[in-house]
Amino acid sequence: MKEIYDIAIVGGGPGGIASAVESLILGIKDVILFEKGEGHSTTIRKFYKDKKRVDKDYKGQKVELNGNIYFCDGTKESTLDLFDKIIQENGFEVQFQTEVESIEKQGDFFVVHTAKNTDFKARFIVISIGKMGQPNKPSYAIPSSVKGLVNFNANSCVDGENILVVGGGNSAVEYACVLSETNPVTLNYRRKEFTRINEANHENLESCFKNGKIQPKLGIDIESLEDEGGKVKVNFTDGTSMVYDRVIYAIGGMAPVDFLRKCGVALDADGVPLIDAKHQSSVDGVYIAGDILYKNGGSIAAALNHGFDIVQEIKKRL
Ligand SMILES: Cc1cc2nc3c(=O)[nH]c(=O)nc-3n(C[C@H](O)[C@H](O)[C@H](O)COP(=O)(O)OP(=O)(O)OC[C@H]3O[C@@H](n4cnc5c(N)ncnc54)[C@H](O)[C@@H]3O)c2cc1C
Repeated sequence: MKEIYDIAIVGGGPGGIASAVESLILGIKDVILFEKGEGHSTTIRKFYKDKKRVDKDYKGQKVELNGNIYFCDGTKESTLDLFDKIIQENGFEVQFQTEVESIEKQGDFFVVHTAKNTDFKARFIVISIGKMGQPNKPSYAIPSSVKGLVNFNANSCVDGENILVVGGGNSAVEYACVLSETNPVTLNYRRKEFTRINEANHENLESCFKNGKIQPKLGIDIESLEDEGGKVKVNFTDGTSMVYDRVIYAIGGMAPVDFLRKCGVALDADGVPLIDAKHQSSVDGVYIAGDILYKNGGSIAAALNHGFDIVQEIKKRL
């Protein structure tokens, strides 16, 4: 362990991995990355369905990659393999299963406090913790007896189950389309039109609606959930009710505002960190990368570019 690291990176998703790898390529060697999950990229591992298609220009956002990580269209598995490989090849210091609880400025450096009660010192900090640690939840109660059947990703689904997917973004549409290969699926979105999804998802969804693989339940919200003999009864605002084996909410994630506030980072009214043109937060020396900079979610390519841009700036200051 170094006495003082040049950079401490919080979060081992695309933004954090890019920050670490690009630092090493620039010759900044004393870098440490903290990841609360058992491995890197918890969001991809936990929230992407197996074999999910991964688009580089996600949600139709065309992003030119600036850095040295060659990320392209692929699948969940090929994307995880790419990150496995670059972490192995670059051999930077990683502390897995280590949640950072807060960061505190002490003179010329920061102290990183972890949930394991160990502290680390670093000159600069990159925060890239994403938003999926806290998936958005519905405002109505989920009865405790059906909690296991109400999920925020598709990992627990069993083939043949009658599933309701709730949401109107790319994640909801992707879950619905992939699950419709093996399950009866209904997609519920409170609006009538899907305005936030990319072209490929639009096409897939249209064809699933047309050939009856997905039942639409659009322009209607959910009022409440009930336990109906061990299944989930969903009461909609139009007065109808349906019973499902499983309900999956894919309604985005929340910026971890408590953590950011503890670190002294100023936020806007939506809980998004305020940054300058160099990605520096309101705390001098603390930089922000990836999804936490977006109200409605970013992309892998955008997070990789943030990591690259940030460490160029830190290199100048070291
Ligand atoms: C279902 C779904 C499908 C998607 N499909 C695509 C796609 O096809 N193409 C695309 O480009 N994008 C896609 N995205 C978006 C993409 O996953 C994100 O934009 C990207 O992962 C953001 O990277 P990040 O590094 O900012 O955050 P994340 O990937 O969320 O990584 C943050 C990491 O920080 C860790 N962490 C959080 N808090 C702490 C803490 N306090 N201490 C230590 N570690 C912590 C988390 O465990 C996590 O591993 C999708 C997202 C979802 C949910």
